Amino acid sequence: MTSADAICALAGLAGGLVGWTLLEYAIHFWLGHLPRGRILTSREHLAHHANILYFTPFALKVRGAIPVLSAVLLGVGAALGAWAGVGATIGVAAGWTLYEVVHQSIHVNGPRSAWSRWAARHHLDHHFRNPRANHGVTTPLWDLLFGTHVPVERVRVPAGALRSLPWLGRALAASEAPPFLADYEVVGPGGSVRVRR
Ligand SMILES: [Zn+2]
Ligand SMILES: [Zn+2]
Repeated sequence: MTSADAICALAGLAGGLVGWTLLEYAIHFWLGHLPRGRILTSREHLAHHANILYFTPFALKVRGAIPVLSAVLLGVGAALGAWAGVGATIGVAAGWTLYEVVHQSIHVNGPRSAWSRWAARHHLDHHFRNPRANHGVTTPLWDLLFGTHVPVERVRVPAGALRSLPWLGRALAASEAPPFLADYEVVGPGGSVRVRR
């Protein structure tokens, strides 16, 4: 591997990471929401909306990722050279893996950092209030560019959804409320705010 190859691979890696964020938006909005259940990706995503603790099985995700990663490898490799193709494929795969970890962690563990506090707020508002907005989970970049970004200050969580957000239940019951609790209010069936803050 020459130094020129290494530069191509690193540039491909950076491009792959940025490219993933567009794929994240496209898979979620264009393939998950717009087809309204007419394709498997959409049915799987709508099942996640129906039950926010349902995640597409790992084997099915891998089956979907193989053609995407193969297309990146062959497409970028043909256009910009083999090392750029390898770097871009690793970049997309790394971004995809990070997204999967962040998305599941938002639902299962709740906010753990300033970034995941923002991500949890926007993603849960997408679930509970406006599924036509905030499709990016790891970044608002493409929502801002495509006009689907809606800033979220507070998420109104239906009381019935609390059982699917154990971390929020724990935060509400804690004697010392974590700072992220200011981002949430639990709303009862009648529309009244039931819980403090
Ligand atoms: Zn989700
Ligand atoms: Zn969605």
